[in-house]
Amino acid sequence: MKKTIIECQNVSFTYEHSTVLEHTSLEVKEGEFWALIGPNGSGKSTLLKIILGLLKPDTGTVKLFGQNIESFKQRERIGFVSQKSNAFNLGFPATVLEVVKSGLTRKVGLFKPFSKQDEETAMNALRIVKMEQFARKNIGELSGGQQQRVFIARALVGKPDLLIMDEPTVGIDQQNVTSFYTMLKGLNREHGIAILLVTHEIDLVTDLASHVACLNRTIHFHGVQSEYKKMDDADISSWYGHPVRRIHHSSTEVEE
Ligand code: ADP
Repeated sequence: MKKTIIECQNVSFTYEHSTVLEHTSLEVKEGEFWALIGPNGSGKSTLLKIILGLLKPDTGTVKLFGQNIESFKQRERIGFVSQKSNAFNLGFPATVLEVVKSGLTRKVGLFKPFSKQDEETAMNALRIVKMEQFARKNIGELSGGQQQRVFIARALVGKPDLLIMDEPTVGIDQQNVTSFYTMLKGLNREHGIAILLVTHEIDLVTDLASHVACLNRTIHFHGVQSEYKKMDDADISSWYGHPVRRIHHSSTEVEE
């Protein structure tokens, strides 16, 4: 039986006077690919911060890999990639390989030199995201989509079981978004890494994810992708807060 790796039960959270999450429950099992979708301001990032242990819920419980979050110590099992950072567009002088190796600092310790083995681990992570040919390039020379692949490789060097991403395709042009998502699907299928991807998109990622959770202050739908796809646009609009129309792709896979 598949083990549960994220379990949020009845989580509520209030910033000063505004309640952002109420009775929010989410369950992610090993090897699953979840799209957590919702409009802007619906509490997606807040829920991620709670799962990452950066915010403490007012009520409810959070378990990671079966352990209460308060006592969870295996941080390396979780990789995190945020929205595209602009810091590297300013000509920051680091190669792609250096950026990926910097993900190992927690393991090797700051200021200790990297070993040959570390270099190989970083190259392997670049191979997984199909970016090995860019290893010696300056990160600032890459496109937004390529940079995000590098940040995924950086998150992969610690060999996580779960990759959490917050709107990773913001600022990436649509053409590259498609191949980025297809790469994620491969990561999930071929390497068995569970994915929790937060997005306000309601189409493309839900074609690739195995499961979908719809959040707007609370969870309005939580289930397998095929059930999400069967819902009417009117059902989605009712919790989304304004009318939405999904694009119906002819296939559930996007060509790379
Ligand atoms: P999403 O990621 O879905 O866009 P967020 O979790 O970022 O939503 O935000 C949910 C709501 O909480 C929004 O109304 C936002 O303005 C508010 N919010 C987010 N962060 C803070 C904060 N640090 N202090 C007060 N309100 C906040």
